[in-house]
Amino acid sequence: MKKYSHAWIAFMAIKRLELIATTTDEKVVSGVTDKVRTEATALVKWFKNYRDFVIKGAWYPDEVFKDMSTSHIVKYTPAEIDEKVTFRKLPATHSIFTMMSKKSPLLNKPYIIEDGNCADRCEAISHSIIDNFKMLFREEKGCPIATSGNHIAMRFFILSHYIADCHMPLHCDSRSFSNEKNIHGAIEKKWEDYITKAYKIDKDNNRFFYDPDGYPLPLKESDFTTNVENEIATRKYIHAWGGKNNNVWDFMSAVSQYSYLFSYFLIPKDFSNTQSMQEFTEETEWGRNFETYSAMIFSDAIDAIARIWLHIWIKYTDWLK
Ligand SMILES: [Zn+2]
Repeated sequence: MKKYSHAWIAFMAIKRLELIATTTDEKVVSGVTDKVRTEATALVKWFKNYRDFVIKGAWYPDEVFKDMSTSHIVKYTPAEIDEKVTFRKLPATHSIFTMMSKKSPLLNKPYIIEDGNCADRCEAISHSIIDNFKMLFREEKGCPIATSGNHIAMRFFILSHYIADCHMPLHCDSRSFSNEKNIHGAIEKKWEDYITKAYKIDKDNNRFFYDPDGYPLPLKESDFTTNVENEIATRKYIHAWGGKNNNVWDFMSAVSQYSYLFSYFLIPKDFSNTQSMQEFTEETEWGRNFETYSAMIFSDAIDAIARIWLHIWIKYTDWLK
């Protein structure tokens, strides 16, 4: 994913949290406790002080850390061995998980992880955010070891980048598709065009212009972003990690598994690395239904970011008490 796609996804995660905090639609929040909704309210209020840093933070891993070949990926290859494997579970609202649980022939089949540590990176950043909150609370204002709200907000947006990347199927697939034909790049370019055409961006100041509610200001009607917004405005929120998952690492490991399955579902095994974008459009499941599957990826990523952020925040506020 590219710069403004990442930033928009992070913004939509804040919007999703605001919906969880405020909606009266029982379909969305049935089963969500009052405590979770109260903390979502507090977290959104906190985020609103730092919205000018969303683009910078969400793009920081690509721009500065440059750990794309390790931490933005978990590269899977199907393994031709006879071994029983059980895949993790995710909340039933995760659309890629639900679809692949029914449709993937590779489900519960062995695989090899060739490369990447995206889940580890997400777990580590989550801990560092909680630690920094505790230090900010404990130390005197201006104390040289204390961090700042700005810094912590940047870390949240940085974290959103890794979570979103893990939802990009090609980040969890050892087939590269980023050679000279660069289908990977062409897909991400299409996504970036959706966002940059749909919103007014204040490029001089590296931020979006805002609507009266403080979210990116739409420039014109866009089917793709409207579909994603509608999905995340109506999808039921499940705060739990799903299955036996107990932390960010477990959850993100599961995300990477289903992202891998999704990649093989969207682009068949016999579609080669040397084929063109036109062939991708005509011959692959993804190419023929590009917007539908891309909207699933964006919506699941937004929902996952909101869930992880809220768990982090609640870990900190539980410590406060
Ligand atoms: Zn990335």
